[in-house]
Amino acid sequence: MKRSEFLAGIAGGAFAVSAAEAMPADGPFATTEVEIERAQPGKPHAGKVLAAIQPHADDLSLFAGGLVLKLIQEGYTGYLIRTTNDDHTGPGTVGEGMLANERDNLAVTQAFGLRKAYDLYYRNHMLDGVSPLELRLRLIFLFRLLKVDTVISYDPWGHYEENPDHYVTASAVEAACWMAGMGKDYPEQFDAGLSPHSVKEKYYYARGPQLVNRVVDIADFMDRKIAVNILNAAQGPAGNSGAQLRRRLTGQGLRLPLLGNDDETANREYTRQFVLDRDAETGRKFGLTYAEPYHYIGPAPAKVEGYIKKNAVKL
Ligand SMILES: [Zn+2]
Repeated sequence: MKRSEFLAGIAGGAFAVSAAEAMPADGPFATTEVEIERAQPGKPHAGKVLAAIQPHADDLSLFAGGLVLKLIQEGYTGYLIRTTNDDHTGPGTVGEGMLANERDNLAVTQAFGLRKAYDLYYRNHMLDGVSPLELRLRLIFLFRLLKVDTVISYDPWGHYEENPDHYVTASAVEAACWMAGMGKDYPEQFDAGLSPHSVKEKYYYARGPQLVNRVVDIADFMDRKIAVNILNAAQGPAGNSGAQLRRRLTGQGLRLPLLGNDDETANREYTRQFVLDRDAETGRKFGLTYAEPYHYIGPAPAKVEGYIKKNAVKL
């Protein structure tokens, strides 16, 4: 990262700024430092591959939409992986809800600028009944096939998560990231043309408390993040909610200036104020307008090569 700042001792309100190299090498000591990741000019991530992973059609939009948009703008080629079929949410019957969510998921994929959506189609709310080995194997296959460098996924170590689809997906992703790079796991895939390929960078999001070490400035992407959330009409909390609230209040002889004079404004400002309010709260803590919190795990430092570079002498 060229422009990064460390904020140390956040809880005590003390701020310290230092260089950026130290992040992943904490060993057993969990860091309490938070790095701010800002938008970068140009395409610094050109040639890298991103897998944005969600159990349900609305997870990424809500918790990581700004980061997905940012990384794609900065040059990543991206893919979306949805682990469930969302058949227990959305309008109408189970089948109708599933179809509505599938359509939303594809619309979200396109709005994010991701190249393709891979739907694993496991049943909604039942992922803890699925073979962990099967789920992990499917992710390993995709990570190798797509040569994924970076994932965005639920935090396998996030606290107080009540939805099994969230924590089961998170654990499978965590294991698949390193196992995809092993030469003795599923070697028949190599005969099919794949190679061992481990995932180097991980951005973990969570609904509840988590160990946050990175805050991503999403101010430049907030309007697009709002628009993506509105696309999640089947189950997302945004959808047409602003327009519906505006109509309800009109029927009661009331008006909220926040919601403006048309449905488009109502949906946009409702989403900003009530659905994505966490982004403004996170931003305020770090002197930003809008921000998303993550636990970030980066590439391990090249200790041997780094030592050689610094210390090797000519014979
Ligand atoms: Zn979810």
